[in-house]
Amino acid sequence: MTEKRIAKYNPREIEPKWQQRWAADHLYEVGEEAPSPKWYDLTMFPYTSGDLHIGHWYAMAPSDVHARFKRMQGYNVLHPMGFDAFGLPAENAAISHGIHPFVWTMQNIQRMRQQLRSMGAIYDWSREVVTCLPDYYRWTQWFFLKLYQAGLAYRAKAPVNWCPNCQTVLANEQVVGEGVCERCKTQVVRRDLEQWFFRITNYAEELLDHSDIDWPERIKIMQRNWIGKSEGVEVAFGLDGEEEIRVFTTRPDTMFGVTFVVLAPEHPLVDKLTSPERRGEVERYVEWARRQSEIERSATEREKSGVFIGAHAINKLNGERVPIWIADYVLMTYGTGAVMAVPAHDARDFEFAKTFGLPIRVVIAPQGWRGEELEEAYIEPGTMVNSGQFDGLPSEQGKEAISDFIESMGYGERKTIYRLRDWLISRQRYWGAPIPIIYCDKCGIVPVPEVELPVLLPEDAEFRPTGESPLKYCESFVNTSCPRCGASARRETDTMDTFMCSSWYFLRYTSPDYKEAPFDASKVRYWLPVDQYTGGAEHATMHLLYARFFIKALRDLGIVDFDEPFTRLYNQGIIVIERQKMSKSRGRVITPDEYVAELGADAVRAYLMFIGPWEQGGEWDDRGIKGIARWLNRIWSLVLGAYAQGKPEATETKNLRHVTHKTIKKVAEDLERFRFNTMIAALMEFTNYLGKVREEQLVESAAWQDAIDTLLLLLAPTAPHIAEELWARTGHPYSIHNQAFPVWDEELAAEEEFNLVIQVNGKLRDRVRVPVSIAEEEAQELALGRERIRRYLEGGQVTRIIYVPRRLVNIVVKQGS
Ligand SMILES: [Zn+2]
Ligand SMILES: [Zn+2]
Repeated sequence: MTEKRIAKYNPREIEPKWQQRWAADHLYEVGEEAPSPKWYDLTMFPYTSGDLHIGHWYAMAPSDVHARFKRMQGYNVLHPMGFDAFGLPAENAAISHGIHPFVWTMQNIQRMRQQLRSMGAIYDWSREVVTCLPDYYRWTQWFFLKLYQAGLAYRAKAPVNWCPNCQTVLANEQVVGEGVCERCKTQVVRRDLEQWFFRITNYAEELLDHSDIDWPERIKIMQRNWIGKSEGVEVAFGLDGEEEIRVFTTRPDTMFGVTFVVLAPEHPLVDKLTSPERRGEVERYVEWARRQSEIERSATEREKSGVFIGAHAINKLNGERVPIWIADYVLMTYGTGAVMAVPAHDARDFEFAKTFGLPIRVVIAPQGWRGEELEEAYIEPGTMVNSGQFDGLPSEQGKEAISDFIESMGYGERKTIYRLRDWLISRQRYWGAPIPIIYCDKCGIVPVPEVELPVLLPEDAEFRPTGESPLKYCESFVNTSCPRCGASARRETDTMDTFMCSSWYFLRYTSPDYKEAPFDASKVRYWLPVDQYTGGAEHATMHLLYARFFIKALRDLGIVDFDEPFTRLYNQGIIVIERQKMSKSRGRVITPDEYVAELGADAVRAYLMFIGPWEQGGEWDDRGIKGIARWLNRIWSLVLGAYAQGKPEATETKNLRHVTHKTIKKVAEDLERFRFNTMIAALMEFTNYLGKVREEQLVESAAWQDAIDTLLLLLAPTAPHIAEELWARTGHPYSIHNQAFPVWDEELAAEEEFNLVIQVNGKLRDRVRVPVSIAEEEAQELALGRERIRRYLEGGQVTRIIYVPRRLVNIVVKQGS
């Protein structure tokens, strides 16, 4: 056989060529008229904070492969791309580069677009959205107004960082070291400022319900924990005067074990209740606690601190007077800002009581407890003791009994509370969508009329961080007239959290140029909800929760008619280098560009998918990607090398068909479930197998050609350029990406099987289909475990098992007497 001289695989030549052709032909643009079912495959859009690194590709290339696969399966696939362009990263980077955030962001987008194009994805660029452009953020503002009109947006005081020396608000990054001002090193305090919130807490209960969506369990757990639903009782403790302290507890069964009460240092009663001799110490502690962040305060490993305020509360259930303390672990923002402490049955209270020598009284007895001191808090259920008329009850029953008692006595009532707080959306920053609100001395808060949207960001504002919104000092922006009475008025100068922009971008992709509304309702009806969303798990309690809230709110406003934005969710892992996260500052970054230039986008795509299970991520290794490049080269010569049929043999041809269909099945099932690494492994195995077949030349040409075509079709989602090129070179019409994904024949794909005969003492008792590859031990195990066989073995003793490969198992049993 003479090997025809074939061209060399040169990705540098073929990749740009096909990318241009696909773009010129609008190959991947989609509409709503297709007769096939729709499929909305969405990947989280990137921040415009700089160049794309390999982590972006790791998020995007596999999702593109999945979208391409769905497309070949006959779906009308929407797989758009855009840019999350407002926000701190862009603003900070612009500041350090000394250029305007708009200019800087748009330059980045330009660059990122080119990088993304080099990936060869099916993004329909005619649908791109950029959140920092007025055509987009005018609708972000419009949504704000809708939420405001519905009572879902409100203004309230919220803490910010305040430098008492500079007399100014500080941004989080201006608070350095141990919470001191970056400029003057004064200790920063928290101070309240009027800011805007969305009432996400109205939806707490519905957000706990994930029953209509197919999401990873860990994300659902993270959201559930974040929302933090607790059911219990809110009960009043008496004070010497008229007032009372209300506490919330999920453990009413432990009410008789309360040995002290703890208030948050900010609790409004602290000042009133503190005794004169304790005042100095209490005030010092309150001042100290104010400087701690909530995260620090709620860290469980933190050393317990607190102060007795010199007052007592009365436990109405047993009439006992217990001391009142303040401690930073109690937060004003959760529950009532006061807790009843039951050290015997709560780990944190136990530690606190040990630290300060407070009494520990057991009221839920562990099994076999004989009155000894506890080594640690006992938090499990048990039998109630030291609890008056409730003694002897199992604690779970006691919970209900004490709750009933509290309600009947009017001491308190059953209550459900959530840890979730309302969504603070005000940012004292320049680079965001201005909040469309005007303040008038006469009319108060006045929303900007819809027709006046967008409220444009002024181009001439100073955007450096001052801790206050830079817009505050931009007179042309601030000064306006009241839309209601015409008097002079001031604009709101805070901008919106960028999570607001990303809460609806997936709606805009359906009709990015629509001028009448944020989206064309008929198109949203066609495309939404998103069928498959992919992105990082780090968004679990922010973006993924906000977007769910947003859609539910829009549904209640009659703007959309579905409940959940993302039907299925998949979280990819991350790419590491030398076992560590990529980090620009440490110079540990892989940029795709150099690899694309050297080995081609197809090699980078395929390597990223081969690197490990997608949800786990993997370690970047230059040798690995070179191995992938060699594999693509092998495919190139395999496909283009002539196949000359030698002496065809029926069994060889049959086996080729079997391997071909087995591979189709494996690849299709893996693609469906994002198991890209094993999909690539199956394709490699197939390639190796075809290499051997070619050497031996024992199959019919038609079967060979069919196998080669199949290889290219299976490869097309992963390596779209080389597949297109080889498809053309083997005489097929353009484009491989318009071909149907191969369908396997279950019979051909199946491993060859035979009927295994099972005998007991030489008599036929059962038969079972098994693959020819079954091992002797497996066949024996299987035979012994069969329902119909077991009854012949009862009472007897198996003395021998005879196995005849591909035929039978004979079990020899000696019956006992
Ligand atoms: Zn300062
Ligand atoms: Zn007015």
